[in-house]
Amino acid sequence: MSDELYRLVYYSHNTVTGDADAVEAAIISILAKSQVNNQRVGVTGALMFNSGCFAQVLEGPRSAVEEVFERIQQDDRHGDVSLLSFDPVPARAFENWSMGFVGASIGDAARYGVLVNGSGFDPAKMDGDALFETLRGLAMEEEHAAD
Ligand code: FAD
Repeated sequence: MSDELYRLVYYSHNTVTGDADAVEAAIISILAKSQVNNQRVGVTGALMFNSGCFAQVLEGPRSAVEEVFERIQQDDRHGDVSLLSFDPVPARAFENWSMGFVGASIGDAARYGVLVNGSGFDPAKMDGDALFETLRGLAMEEEHAAD
C-alpha cells in the first residue's frame, strides 16, 4: 500500500566546491528547500554533514519518500549516493522535523566537517540501522538541549 510509513537512510559525498562559506550556504539552501517541500508531502527526517559526507533519514508515506529521494539523487551538489535502507516502520522518529540538521551547527559542520576522516565518521562502514540510530541520538540530544 503506497501510504504505508517508510523510512529511507542514505549517505552521499559532498561535491560543493569552494570554502566553508560556500558549503555552509549550500547546506542552508538545501535545508530551507527541504523544509518547504517535505512539509507539503508529509515527509520528515534529519540531515547531517560530516567528513565530506551527507547522511540523511527520510520518513513518510512510501510514494512521497520515493519522489523526494528521486530528486535528491539527481542533485549535483552531492554524488555517490548510497542507499542503505528503505523499510516500512511503525512510527516516525523525527515527527516534529520536516528536515532537521543534526550534529555540529551548520557553520561548524561546513568549517570542520569537510575534513575527510577528520572526525573518524565514516558512513560507508555503517548499515542503515546504525546510521539511523546515530542521527536519532543526535536529534534527541538537540531536543534535550532545547528544553
Ligand atoms: P528547485 O528548487 O526549483 O530546483 C530545480 C533544480 O535546480 C533541481 O534539479 C535542483 O537540484 C537544482 N538546484 C537548486 N538549487 C541549486 C543550487 N544552489 N546548486 C545546484 N543545483 C541547484 N529536497 C527535498 O525536497 N527534501 C529533502 O529532504 C532534500 N534533502 C536533500 C539532501 C541533500 C544532501 C541534497 C544535496 C539535496 C536535498 N534536497 C532535498 C534538494 C533536492 O535535491 C532538490 O534540489 C529539491 O528537492 C528540488 O526542489 P524543487 O523541485 O522545488 O526545485
